[in-house]
Amino acid sequence: MMKFFNRQYATIVFSSDYIYGLPSAGEHQTFDMMKYKKIRDGLIEKNLLHRRAVLRPELCSYDDLRLVHTDKYLKSIQDPQVVSRMLRLDLYNLFYNSILEYFRAVTGGTLLATAYALKWNTPVFNLGGGYHHAHPDRAEGFCLINDTAVAIEKFRKLKRIKKIMIIDLDYHQGNGNLLFYKDDQNVYTFSIHADEWIAIDRPQNKDILMPSECDDQLYLQTLERELNDSCLSFQPDIVYFIAGSDPYIKDALGDMNLTRQGMFKRNQFVYRKIRQKKLPLVILAGGGYGIDSWEVYYDFIAYAIKNKY
Ligand SMILES: [Zn+2]
Repeated sequence: MMKFFNRQYATIVFSSDYIYGLPSAGEHQTFDMMKYKKIRDGLIEKNLLHRRAVLRPELCSYDDLRLVHTDKYLKSIQDPQVVSRMLRLDLYNLFYNSILEYFRAVTGGTLLATAYALKWNTPVFNLGGGYHHAHPDRAEGFCLINDTAVAIEKFRKLKRIKKIMIIDLDYHQGNGNLLFYKDDQNVYTFSIHADEWIAIDRPQNKDILMPSECDDQLYLQTLERELNDSCLSFQPDIVYFIAGSDPYIKDALGDMNLTRQGMFKRNQFVYRKIRQKKLPLVILAGGGYGIDSWEVYYDFIAYAIKNKY
């Protein structure tokens, strides 16, 4: 694998477990199950990525999940029926908890992305992850496991990182992360969203609520104004960027009006801002619904692979 992996360029984390675990029916049928495979295949087709350079994660261990989630909760989600109810899915498989396995795989992906981002200082994209609504003891908004918090806690325990910044540009507020880190001075949470769930006032947090139907100009002006050098004077050791595609005008759920070009500019701005400071960067997919959603993350990854930083 190392022959194909070039540490100077961005790369991706993906495995077939990311596809098979996802439910294809129920409340979340707006989710395009093939979204991430389309992205991977598109990158390979355009010669931007070698098949063997894709980093493949292991399922996250229970020891690692316990760094964030309670024993009681982890025990409860062993039952596929409980998981289906929590995520409001109509269908469940009584004998195989594929949804739990999906979340363990994606969380393993965020761990692997962090390891590579720290070891080589290579920007790494997980083709999934950013499940920012999950709490230690309960699921919320199709988030069963909080992969970002698990990765942060694991690498803190290993003493590889001390100060962490989460930049969350998903359409929805990252309430799970905000609550989890509300008393933690070493984690800065930054979020621009149109859907606010809670309000917490603390120095290491910026929550910016945008109007629905917000366009490229207003969004990009706000981002450039708010994600400024004073945020970055926090001096994180690593940045997690939850690059949710749901502010996209073609998104099946969100009601923001950002164009494909506007979404690209948003992602490019964050990418440059962080990489100019040579900070390790892990990018997580976050939300994004409907058949056109894949284009946004694809454009971003293609750009990052072409532009060495
Ligand atoms: Zn979202």
